[in-house]
Amino acid sequence: MNSKILVIGSSNTDMTVVADKLPSPGETVIGGHFSMGLGGKGANQAVAVCRLGQQAGFVCKIGRDIFGDNALKAYRAEGLDTTGVLRCDTPSGVALITVDAGAENCIVVASGANAEMTPEDIDSLRDLITGAEVLLMQLEIPLPAVKRAAHIAHEAGVTVVLNPAPAVPLDGSLLADVDILVPNEHEAALLSGLPVDDEKSAGAAAAYLQSMGVRDVIITLGARGALVCRGGDAPVAVPALKVKAVDTTAAGDTFCGALCVALTEGLSLEQAARFAARAAALTVQRVGAQEAIPYRNELI
Ligand code: ADP
Repeated sequence: MNSKILVIGSSNTDMTVVADKLPSPGETVIGGHFSMGLGGKGANQAVAVCRLGQQAGFVCKIGRDIFGDNALKAYRAEGLDTTGVLRCDTPSGVALITVDAGAENCIVVASGANAEMTPEDIDSLRDLITGAEVLLMQLEIPLPAVKRAAHIAHEAGVTVVLNPAPAVPLDGSLLADVDILVPNEHEAALLSGLPVDDEKSAGAAAAYLQSMGVRDVIITLGARGALVCRGGDAPVAVPALKVKAVDTTAAGDTFCGALCVALTEGLSLEQAARFAARAAALTVQRVGAQEAIPYRNELI
């Protein structure tokens, strides 16, 4: 059976060491606590969809190595449909993270297998894509694969949601296949070439992106909430919940996953954004990435 929401994106293993100070070039420092967890925007968003109560399929490319084996096991345990997970001889993606006493960090990502996703891989998954109601993607896998998937989905009438992170300039051919674009303020600024620092400037950037072919745009503004710009309607501000944020990692990923869940439950774009803001507010009150993503029963 096809999942209602299909997420296509990255899968990484995050390896984090906490140290008193970050090493300078050529220096070795002895660190403290080490932790390992699953990450990658694709995986985070797929996990968010699943925990928030909707059937989700996850397509990613991982290596034939222990990191790939661990990730696959974890995604299955989470309840994700992993029939579309692809494997290759390139090592699985990893992120090596050092965090110092002041919470400053230094990160090196080896995209590995994530960078091997091709348009041909996407073609081989056509049935999974066309059988979904919503396709959710980000930009941590190669752009040609994202474009191919968006096009197949759009032609089949599947709602295409793109979280353009990390931001790279996008051309109109991809944007015309996107129904809902969900950038944060930095991504919106890079994509539109306009400064984005408040609701007014976010509205102008959204209008520009809509003129490039996207139907709806939701710009997330961190603790200031989000601006929902539905094609043809006046922008609506959705405030963030007033909570004590301790770590905003995966806030955007939770927001995107939750948004898609709410859309498949028949909510309007604005209602879906309000649901997403409630879910993301739980994430920011916890430390970590995937471990901070809430379950449906936590949303009262
Ligand atoms: P990203 O993680 O992609 O940079 P944002 O920081 O814009 O995304 O956050 C996404 C959403 O998460 C926001 O629109 C908001 O609803 C929620 N959020 C982020 N930071 C906070 C915060 N400090 N307090 C409450 N909600 C927050």
